[in-house]
Amino acid sequence: MRAYYKVVRCPKCGWLQVTSAEKATRCRRCGSTISLEASEPLAVAATASEAREKLLALKAKLKKPRGKP
Ligand SMILES: [Zn+2]
Repeated sequence: MRAYYKVVRCPKCGWLQVTSAEKATRCRRCGSTISLEASEPLAVAATASEAREKLLALKAKLKKPRGKP
């Protein structure tokens, strides 16, 4: 048994979301299918709240302007 939460990124629009699906999930923003077998999750967590924290941390990271160290 390996039920855990994954933070995944939509390859089409870049939307980040948490899923507990094993093979594929659907992007909540653009509706395209995100294959969990083709792409590695950005983060994994044992609980939904932990996954949400990681998701928020990743979002904050991606928000930062590029070009700065
Ligand atoms: Zn999308």
